[in-house]
Amino acid sequence: MYPEVYFAKIKQEIKRALGVFYYPSFKINKIFDNKPKFIILVYHSIHPRHPWSISPNKFEEQIKFISSNYPILSLGDFFNFKENSISITFDDGYEDNFYYALPILKKYNLNATFFICSGFITKEIDIAKDGPYKGLRPLTIEMIKEMKKEGMNFGSHTHAHPILSKVSLSQAKEDIHKSKIILESILEEKINLFAYPFGQLNTFNDNIISVLKEEGFQLSCSTIWGNNNKHTNPFILRRIRIDPMDTLRDFKDKIEGKWDFIKWFHYLKWIT
Ligand SMILES: [Zn+2]
Repeated sequence: MYPEVYFAKIKQEIKRALGVFYYPSFKINKIFDNKPKFIILVYHSIHPRHPWSISPNKFEEQIKFISSNYPILSLGDFFNFKENSISITFDDGYEDNFYYALPILKKYNLNATFFICSGFITKEIDIAKDGPYKGLRPLTIEMIKEMKKEGMNFGSHTHAHPILSKVSLSQAKEDIHKSKIILESILEEKINLFAYPFGQLNTFNDNIISVLKEEGFQLSCSTIWGNNNKHTNPFILRRIRIDPMDTLRDFKDKIEGKWDFIKWFHYLKWIT
């Protein structure tokens, strides 16, 4: 077993255990906060064999559950959702999204938003050179066009996948602009959705948000844990990350907010 997977399994057990302690707070929150929620799920890779990917069977089980229990909306519907709703997103642009996620999304007649790292698909940058997604290949331009035909939405995930707050503002601006131009020429449509690479609180700031607004983006997803309501800043949308070791029970609990204590651990970094 890969050490990453081993540690992830231990972390998962810790999170499940903490969920028990958090349960009373979850119940209390539910009484005082009954505003409609816009829940955004974030996936990366769907693959039957890669150790860090979610298996297609598990993905289908999750999609089946949400499609029969919640309205599934496009990300742009954040601006006019009326009840608890879910939107599905994928980061990076892995080839397996086409082979394994697309057929399942089609089967349930759903759409999702794919945040593409443009330098990855043009093969200028290999974001899967190492790390948990090591060895995974990018979507091709033909696959992206095919997915668009099937009703999928696309957004930018930068060109070179930098930590935007750690490079100079002009570099960040250039990278964001480049990815937007490349994706717009492939898809022949305006790209106005964005997702920050890594996406934690310290990976973007007000200057980056200003650049996104200048470039014509309408909303941006972070990976800050949680759901969204009408008052959430559309440039700091929160998402719920779905992991390979999630059972269907974990998945349901995450969506319902029983794992919302995870947002506190972002400050401690090690657990998420
Ligand atoms: Zn990414």
